[in-house]
Amino acid sequence: MLTVDGSFCEGGGQILRSSLALSIVTGRAFRIENIRAKRRKPGLLRQHLTAVRAAAEIGRCKVEGDEMGSTELVFVPGVAVGGDYTFSIGTAGSTTLVLQTILLPLALAKAPSRIVLEGGTHNPYAPPFDFLERSYLPLVNRMGPKVSVTLERYGFYPAGGGRMVVDVTPAESFGGISIVERGDLVRRCGRAVVSSLDRKIADREVRVMRKRLGWDEGEAEVVEIDRPVGPGNIVTIELGYENVTEVFTGFGEVGRAAEAVASHAVQQCQRYLRSSAPVGEYLTDQLLLPMAIAGSGTFRSTGLSRHSETHVDLIGKFLDVEIETEREDSRAIVISIA
Ligand code: AMP
Repeated sequence: MLTVDGSFCEGGGQILRSSLALSIVTGRAFRIENIRAKRRKPGLLRQHLTAVRAAAEIGRCKVEGDEMGSTELVFVPGVAVGGDYTFSIGTAGSTTLVLQTILLPLALAKAPSRIVLEGGTHNPYAPPFDFLERSYLPLVNRMGPKVSVTLERYGFYPAGGGRMVVDVTPAESFGGISIVERGDLVRRCGRAVVSSLDRKIADREVRVMRKRLGWDEGEAEVVEIDRPVGPGNIVTIELGYENVTEVFTGFGEVGRAAEAVASHAVQQCQRYLRSSAPVGEYLTDQLLLPMAIAGSGTFRSTGLSRHSETHVDLIGKFLDVEIETEREDSRAIVISIA
């Protein structure tokens, strides 16, 4: 049985989630210790526990230690079985991170799946729904499976109550892809979303986006959510190229000025624009896993985060693949998997 040290490098939930996914895909059992040791509240929180139980359910797995606060777990995988699943986190915990745990095994199952996820859909420190839909899934789909997502309700921290539905048509295996150039810019848009909050917040954010990016009226818009579950605010900036789409995010929070929320997204967007690499840091974090499962692929990234460094190490434990990183210059790294 493999032993995974959950405190390694980045020391957060990613190590756990990726271990669960890799375990089901490879059929290799593992024991993980020091779960989320480098986080303020270590151990399994509601979102991680939901991810563990979701993985156990879809993969017909045996698990020990799946309790709130647990810092150790033993996981013996079965086989991923496609079907209808519903997972409710019960808090505003991130549904996209629960999905990240079970998506790839289900995308390699024999039968299709429909997954309903309830909880947070737009959480700080997690991929927001828009990133999942626009940025990550189109690349997964290029590898063979067909995955589509529908946002039925926004869920923001702390109220939660969001809901998304995910349809998965699996592939027999993943094909490696190459993302070396962005291609031409075909779409760009900014959105300032408010839920149960004054529209003026979003107006101010749209003003910052238009001014700082030099965009026209129609290119950044206000979205006021119908039937909101609780208060929330998010700014997204989407750049759609021929070969890749990137989504940059600013999360509103109590005590943070609207201008600062929008500026955060704008700064990430500007940093991306200074590089020529197609794949940004967050997308790199997500892409390593399906590419490694495919067993081949190349992409140019703006940089490797601590999450990605952790991922490279973890993937090497489960899979017999070489991940090579070669720095091109200060703004681009070539990542090759073989
Ligand atoms: P962890 O902190 O270990 O629970 O992992 C958080 C995950 O969320 C990592 O895969 C990050 O790359 C991802 N993430 C955090 N913020 C964003 C964001 N703004 N856009 C996309 N992905 C994100």
